[in-house]
Amino acid sequence: MRGSAVRADVWLSDVGAFVRTDVESYLASHPEDRYPDVLVERLRQLGVFGATVPVEYGGSDRPAPEVARLGYELASGWQSLAALTGTHLKLCGQLLRHGTEQQRRTWLPLMARGERVFARAYHEQGVADPAALRSTAALHGGTGRLSGHKSWVTNARHADRIVAVVRSGDAVIGVVTDPRRPGVEIGAELPRPGMLGVSLTEVTYRDYEFDPDTEVIGGPGHDLTDALRGYDVTSYVARALGSADAVYACALRFVRKSVHGRPAEARGAIGLRIGELATRRAAMHAVWQCLQQPAAGNHPPLAPGAAKVFTTATLQELVRAAALLCGGTGYAGPLPALGRHYRDALALPIIGTPNDTLLSLIGERELAGEDA
Ligand SMILES: Cc1cc2nc3c(=O)[nH]c(=O)nc-3n(C[C@H](O)[C@H](O)[C@H](O)COP(=O)(O)OP(=O)(O)OC[C@H]3O[C@@H](n4cnc5c(N)ncnc54)[C@H](O)[C@@H]3O)c2cc1C
Repeated sequence: MRGSAVRADVWLSDVGAFVRTDVESYLASHPEDRYPDVLVERLRQLGVFGATVPVEYGGSDRPAPEVARLGYELASGWQSLAALTGTHLKLCGQLLRHGTEQQRRTWLPLMARGERVFARAYHEQGVADPAALRSTAALHGGTGRLSGHKSWVTNARHADRIVAVVRSGDAVIGVVTDPRRPGVEIGAELPRPGMLGVSLTEVTYRDYEFDPDTEVIGGPGHDLTDALRGYDVTSYVARALGSADAVYACALRFVRKSVHGRPAEARGAIGLRIGELATRRAAMHAVWQCLQQPAAGNHPPLAPGAAKVFTTATLQELVRAAALLCGGTGYAGPLPALGRHYRDALALPIIGTPNDTLLSLIGERELAGEDA
């Protein structure tokens, strides 16, 4: 039985209050590219790091819609917090599904309390198929050795452990690595337009030694790439929605204050653009609702991938239109959140599975199917 200590509505409203007070005031007074220790500490206190961990391992075992709502709330304030916690929560799920009972008992309570925050090192530039990963782990006597290079790892610099997803013979395994041990090099901060504050770096392993009995997750029969599908894709939809609602509210507040006193034709044009923003936002919400419900009647089912493509692409259009509407004030002035959402939104169609890849998978499936 699921047994969250704090009721969902209370917990989510606490997270929402944290976003609107702590996160907003933090961003108003700190450089965006600094690691937000104080906010991470508050996330620990709010029990965010244990949201996907079963109660018996010290977590609150929130159901998927609540975890998605968590991503929504955090993203409405700062996408970087949703990225940091999202990766950790996915890894809690992977340990639960693919770890041994001993690993679950060792790691999950620490992960649930946020005493060990996990990052994931999977992607290698230009490698789409896990079987083609260049990073490998091998056994030498009773010791494992890991070598390879990972191109982008969110939170590598501050994470307590990094799960490196690598090839070992024919299998794809995860190795729980300690970035402070010899054989791991965390690269320099990668230059980027958004998703700041939480580090994004390359990670290189050179003959990193690990214990194959306790530090390997998965192996034959386990698909460690499962987190790239299902919930993972859905989580980006929730995050896009969080940004869209925040941007819409910001633009509407600005326009309501500034529209009076403008000539009639300007009011008409502004009204039209607000109508466009409201329509895009409503469509994103409709897609989200659709994703929660099974397909019915003559409607085609909505694949999570299609929902990610639609919402993350629509978010970009929405943020661009909002920035136009807010003019110079939105670009350089008292609405810094708009610029941040604008820059952060660029990453969403790329991360996880890129939108184009999802589209070609959907297209392939459509082509292979029967005529409607
Ligand atoms: C901000 C950020 C944070 C990230 N954090 C992490 C992390 O914590 N851990 C981690 O492991 N990775 C992370 N990544 C990596 C991220 O998941 C990859 O960048 C993403 O999966 C895309 O891989 P790629 O960049 O190699 O793109 P590529 O595979 O090189 O694709 C580039 C483009 O080519 C086209 N394309 C490629 N394949 C296809 C196809 N089959 N069909 C149609 N079009 C195609 C698409 O237009 C695609 O966008 C992060 C990336 C970013 C930007």
